[in-house]
Formats: sequence, structure tokens, C-alpha cells
Amino acid sequence: MIYKIRLYERGQLRMRNFRKPTILISGCIEDQPCRYDGAMVKSSFVKKLKNHVNFMTVCPEVAIGLPTPRQALRIILSKEERLVFSKTGEDLTEKMKEFSKSFIKGLSATEIHGVILKSRSPSCGIKDVKVYKNYGKAPCIPKKTSGVFTKEFSNQFKNIVMEDEGRLLNYNIRQHFLTRIYAVADLKEVKRKKDIKELIRFQSENKYLLMAYSPNNLKKLGKITANHEKRNIEEVLKEYEYYFNKALSTELKPMRNVNMLLHLFGYFSKDLSKNEKVFFLEHLENYSNKKVPFSVPLEIIHGWVIRFKNKYLLNQTIFEAFPKDLLEVTDSGKGV
Ligand code: SF4
Repeated sequence: MIYKIRLYERGQLRMRNFRKPTILISGCIEDQPCRYDGAMVKSSFVKKLKNHVNFMTVCPEVAIGLPTPRQALRIILSKEERLVFSKTGEDLTEKMKEFSKSFIKGLSATEIHGVILKSRSPSCGIKDVKVYKNYGKAPCIPKKTSGVFTKEFSNQFKNIVMEDEGRLLNYNIRQHFLTRIYAVADLKEVKRKKDIKELIRFQSENKYLLMAYSPNNLKKLGKITANHEKRNIEEVLKEYEYYFNKALSTELKPMRNVNMLLHLFGYFSKDLSKNEKVFFLEHLENYSNKKVPFSVPLEIIHGWVIRFKNKYLLNQTIFEAFPKDLLEVTDSGKGV
């Protein structure tokens, strides 16, 4: 499904088409009160996301037949990690693994563009699940792990962007997550069309986004798109998708952002006054010194793109990687 927001084309405002990503999400986040204590987890970000993505919910604990409310579960380490009831030690590991495998099998025809899971849950947690020595009053050991469902899921879906609702409180992590799910949803559409012209358009519109993430993979993707070896489109798209995911799973670094912004600045340096150049470079330095967010120098350039009607840059996804409506400057304290 497609929905539209503002973009610019031939110097005029137009609507940009965003493909709605499909996100797999833990059922207890803003959907059902299915936690062990009968509660639901609140997340203002997920609430907002409801209008912009298709959610597919799953509660693995309810799916294996547990009631709500129920006794709490935990992970214990005997010879290997086991999922057990915290009080009685009854072991649910095999049941949960079995459900996870059949659920994943059932997903084969569904395109998932991203995953949001509940933090710290022994079923859904991504990396921050406590591990106990045993059931009952036994203490935790100094180790964190993944929930049983998540472990099975990640084994099958290695390239998918996966976050928990806790990490998504961080501005930078949220930006990255949104950027990836919209880019991947767009790429899946290119794959569906199996048209080299579509791939060339995609590569061209994502050039500066890729430059910010990974200049090496940008070059690699350029070569794949050029397809000098005249390979068939399926092969090209398969390889392209691999390196595109690799590029976008790279951690963003301020110095790479600065380098990308300087490339964009180069388009306008002849048209700008000395004061405008100084103004931009000062803000770029402020960004390097963590005094202002990345959006400050980027939006200065975006203003010039519109003012000088630069047709090529007008459609660069770096200026609008996801619907602006989803932009929220709230942060847990480590981002922006
Ligand atoms: S964390 Fe996962 S298993 Fe636990 S209630 Fe939420 S969806 Fe269900």
C-alpha cells in the first residue's frame, strides 16, 4: 500500500510516494494487554507508527497456550539456556521453539521490513534478557541473552532491522530504524518489478544516503547496478539487496555525514555568497563538535536544493528518508 507526502519535482512541490512497511511487533506493545501481569506496554512512537506501517502482531507466550495473567517466566542456564516458569521451574523451551519455527515457516510468503520486540522479555527480548542460575530464589548471572522466540527468528531473518521499544526511545536509533524500514520497503518494490531502470532510479535517489552510511558499499552498489557483466536481473537484484542491507546496517559516523554534506555543499559553492558559505561551514563544525544535530546542516543544504531547483538533488532520499510526520525530537538522553 502506498501513501503520499510532500516532495519536490522539477522545482515544484509534489507528493512523494512512501510504501507502507510491514513491521512484526510484540503483541503486548500498544495492542493487547497480554503481558504476564495482564498489562500492555505503552509506546508513543509505536502509537504514532500505527498510521504509517502495517503491523503484524505476535505474542509467543499466548500462542503456546499460556493464560493472561500468568506466572512470570525466566531464562535459566543449566547445560544450555532454558525458558522456565520462575516459581516452579516447569520447562517451556521446546514448546516455544516449536511455535517459533512454525510461525517463521508461516511467514515465508510475507514480506517483513522490520521488527519491534519487547525489551527484557525471556521470549521476545533482543539482547538484554537476564539469565538466572535456576528457578525460585536463585540469583542472576552476569550475562544477558536473547529471548527464545527472538533467537529462532534472528537465525532465519539475519538481515532484518530489529529493535526493542526501549532502544527506540533514543532519537538516533529511531531515525536509523525508520530510514531502514522505508528504504527496504522501497527496494522490495524494485525487486518485485524486476526492472533495471527502477534499480537505477533507486540507486540514484539513495546515493547520498548510502554515502553517509557506507561510501565503500555505495561504490559496490554502483557497480552492481551498472551490470557490465550483463547478468540477469534476478541475480543483480539479489546481490544488490545483500550489499544494500550491509550498507544500511553500518553504524552512522559523524565524519561520514560531514563528508557527505561537503559533497552536497559542492553543488552550490559557486552560487552562494561568502557569508552563506561561512554560515554553513560554521554549522557543519558545530555538528562535528556535537553542538547541533545532523538535521541542522542538512536542512540548510535542503533549502538551497529548493532555492536553486537542483533537479538531481530534489529527489535524494537523504532529505526525507521517511514521513516527516514520524519525526519526534524526544530522546532518552543519548541521541540527537
Ligand atoms: S513480551 Fe512477547 S511474549 Fe511477552 S507478553 Fe509481550 S508479546 Fe507476549
